[in-house]
Amino acid sequence: MTDQTPRTGLLSVIIPAYQEQDTLPAAVSAISKTLDDAQIACELLFIDDGSRDGTWGAVQSAAADDPRVRGIRFSRNFGKEAAIFAGLANAAGDCCAVIDCDLQHPPEKLVEMYRLWQEGYQVIEGVKRDRGRERPLHAFAARRFYAAMSRAAGVDMARASDFKLLDRRAVDVLVAMREKNTFFRALSAWVGFRAASVEYEVRPRAAGRSKWPLRSLIRYAMTSIAAFSSAPLQIVTILGVIVLICSVVLGIQSLWKKLAGQALEGFTTVILLILFIGSVLMICLGIIGYYIAKIYEEIKARPRYIVSESCGRPLGGGERIYKSE
Ligand code: UDP
Ligand code: MG
Repeated sequence: MTDQTPRTGLLSVIIPAYQEQDTLPAAVSAISKTLDDAQIACELLFIDDGSRDGTWGAVQSAAADDPRVRGIRFSRNFGKEAAIFAGLANAAGDCCAVIDCDLQHPPEKLVEMYRLWQEGYQVIEGVKRDRGRERPLHAFAARRFYAAMSRAAGVDMARASDFKLLDRRAVDVLVAMREKNTFFRALSAWVGFRAASVEYEVRPRAAGRSKWPLRSLIRYAMTSIAAFSSAPLQIVTILGVIVLICSVVLGIQSLWKKLAGQALEGFTTVILLILFIGSVLMICLGIIGYYIAKIYEEIKARPRYIVSESCGRPLGGGERIYKSE
């Protein structure tokens, strides 16, 4: 990997798009112009994540205008993670970058990432300089979530994003993973390889609005934590120990009272204890149930996404297409 001459190769830019008809044409021109100026051979691979607006039409017309644009359309909305993995699985490039369609990730940084790849780095992470403008509650929740994830994944996630460039080797490893509850942000660090990072400023959205209502964010957080950590299962044990300690203390106290002949008083304690232990047990069952549900999902081995159609150059059966300039 440490050649003297910098390596060159095709860059696949993977762009998940959900309800992005307003931002997509701008994304196509901004990304392709930036890469053309830097003389980087590229393909643009749009994954339409089951949009119900004109996104697919926009992808098709972009593909008709530019042979380097390809599109894959999901049969319904499968989520950004699925879109990213569909992109990785179908990319032809020697390296693959993932970038948002709304131009919040500055395309110029793709050039910087590509140069690092040429120097031999294999996983180049886009790191947010700051988190952009967020509501305080959102920012607080995000901080807590990333602190927990950083601990679980063993990598600093606070400023991580899905904006990355991966070498073909890392891409192949990710694509070969069979798990379906993935968390791309952490997995790309988990695979290891020679890593570098590039800082960028989060820009305001080009148009449209964010597709992450609070409900999806919470679901995303829970799936990601379950995908990367079994710590919540250990909470069950810890709670069990706490309850055990409490019950020893209370046990001694009530025995004492009984021996002292004032046993009838403890009725409130009994009710409180029943309520307390009952709720702890319920929570524990819930946590265990959540993991069982995840195991069930993995075992059903359903596909992570379903492709309904594609456009642009046909998606080769594994063969890689190089464009020489
Ligand atoms: N996205 C997607 N599927 C979804 C939601 C979002 O492919 O179900 C894409 C979206 O089109 C965009 C990127 O993921 O390219 C980031 O989404 P968004 O801008 O809504 O999220 P935010 O920037 O607020 O995190
Ligand atoms: Mg965005």
